[in-house]
Amino acid sequence: MPRPELAHGPRQRLAGRASCSVDRCPCGSLHVNLGSVTLRFDEQEFKELAAALGEAASALARCSDAVAVH
Ligand SMILES: [Zn+2]
Repeated sequence: MPRPELAHGPRQRLAGRASCSVDRCPCGSLHVNLGSVTLRFDEQEFKELAAALGEAASALARCSDAVAVH
């Protein structure tokens, strides 16, 4: 049974940058704000996204390093 008092209440800011931020809603969902767009994930989905983004950022850094060498 959903608990109405927990549905989409005040959100807690988990992280923020100039162009994006991540909030946690009391309903348990994670809100990823990118400009005027908000993407919502459950905790498991968000963790997978975060891991994938971290992996991609590392891969991109390695590509950039490789290019910089030449
Ligand atoms: Zn919510």
